[in-house]
Amino acid sequence: MKGFHSNFLMSTEDAKRYAAEVLRFFAPDEETVCEEIGDGNINYVFRVRSVKDGRSLIIKQSDRLLRSSGRPLDQNRSRIEAAALRSEAKYVPAMVPEVFHYDEEMAAISMEDVSAYGNLRRELMAGHVYPHLSANISDFLAETMLPTTDLAADAEEKKRQVCFFTNPELCSITEDLVLTEPYYDYKGRNLLFPGTEDFVRRCLYEDEALHAEVGKLRLNFMNNPQALLHGDLHTGSIFANAGGIKVLDPEFAFYGPMGYDIGNVIGNFFFSWAYHAFTRPDDRDVTEALASCIEEIHDLTAAKLARRYDGLVALPLYRAEAFRREWLAKVMADAAGYAGTEIVRRTVGDSKVAEISLVEDPALRIPMEKALIRFGTALIMRRNEYRRGREITALFRRILG
Ligand code: ADP
Ligand code: MG
Repeated sequence: MKGFHSNFLMSTEDAKRYAAEVLRFFAPDEETVCEEIGDGNINYVFRVRSVKDGRSLIIKQSDRLLRSSGRPLDQNRSRIEAAALRSEAKYVPAMVPEVFHYDEEMAAISMEDVSAYGNLRRELMAGHVYPHLSANISDFLAETMLPTTDLAADAEEKKRQVCFFTNPELCSITEDLVLTEPYYDYKGRNLLFPGTEDFVRRCLYEDEALHAEVGKLRLNFMNNPQALLHGDLHTGSIFANAGGIKVLDPEFAFYGPMGYDIGNVIGNFFFSWAYHAFTRPDDRDVTEALASCIEEIHDLTAAKLARRYDGLVALPLYRAEAFRREWLAKVMADAAGYAGTEIVRRTVGDSKVAEISLVEDPALRIPMEKALIRFGTALIMRRNEYRRGREITALFRRILG
């Protein structure tokens, strides 16, 4: 039997032994069952449960090789994920799974099982737009990031944190897949739905003004260690039920522009809106609930950031009203821009969201993709113009026609 002091990829039997012998979460003779429940492309997720009383925990392990393609990927991502979960837990403990143990050698994070919550992407597709979502998501965004910025943190400690969370291989995935390839398909990895090729060429590959703006967003992503981000905050990283949310999977965490996380969440809500608008056009209750939710996430995040700013920022230079106003406006402008890049990349890139790939009928899919691309590019180009969530949803309504 293998010991757990040198790295290997666990089987379900290994995970059961690990939970008892290393974590001592179960008694040595306690009967347990284990399932590998990972649905992502990257890592392995084991749920181990006691047969006797149902107590359970999650062990998430990263392998040297990516689960999907088998190419190597830095296992330091597990260390970063565990530390990011612990940082978030300092500010919003109820919104993240509790980390019980991080094992450097095994690249394994042992944490609370949050199976009582459902994947928000699927919840929204099923029409479950929980009324608490905007309050909770805006809390997560406003609470976790601002304290980690140079406006609020100790400057020397912050620089050490920037070093710790330097995450080159995972950032490179974002720089390529999100912020390059959708506009410049140099690796030939974009997946265009038949019938959209000319539109994509004109709107994305040949629009130099768009390239200039995406270039700015790309370099801002790479050169603005503003705050500790989640880094992959799409609706599949958020779990929800009627009682609240749990945010999982911050392995892309790094110090970057806050607007990236805010825009990622907001952008992903529009996929759900588009999905309902095109596949269930008569069910306006859901699209209206989604529109309100998006507006509230945008406006509540901006308002809560402004409020937290006043509580956290002490230096008089940063408290000067013109500085404060511009700083907060830039965060929200970034958010609109990165909502745009997320919408574009999930439409033309190879990591499609279910809301798009499940729509197979070309008569729906082609206009849906065109609407999303029109909307995403408008957000990128006009990101400095929006002040209120309602202006963003109004633009999408106009594009849907
Ligand atoms: P990856 O990094 O491979 O994308 P995720 O962290 O997204 O892995 O986890 C994959 C899936 O495993 C999630 O979608 C969820 O269903 C399940 N999962 C992960 N962590 C937990 C947890 N703490 N509690 C319950 N389920 C979890
Ligand atoms: Mg992941």
